[in-house]
Amino acid sequence: MSSMYEENTQGDCSLNKVTELEQKIRLIRVEIDLIQQKCPHVLEPHVLKDGEKLGHKRCPKCEKYYNGWWCEKSPTTFCDYEQDDGKYDEDCCRYCGAPSERK
Ligand SMILES: [Zn+2]
Ligand SMILES: [Zn+2]
Repeated sequence: MSSMYEENTQGDCSLNKVTELEQKIRLIRVEIDLIQQKCPHVLEPHVLKDGEKLGHKRCPKCEKYYNGWWCEKSPTTFCDYEQDDGKYDEDCCRYCGAPSERK
């Protein structure tokens, strides 16, 4: 009877610990987000062995990860699929004309 009580207590203790740690993770995430928001990001292409530039490297200053194709012609360095008429055409970047699904 008493050993069962101890087990339950231990279970609760580790749950409290997990909750406490998750709370810390959330606070740390917020801190990271703030740093990344303020960072004047350095955008560099992720270059493949054959020299092809595909995506973006993580920002070397803040480790922010970017999802999106590298685009030489785009002022943002990202391919942009918004067309002149405001519609999105994922088969044609407005700057380089490349589709979003590349091999
Ligand atoms: Zn950055
Ligand atoms: Zn492009």
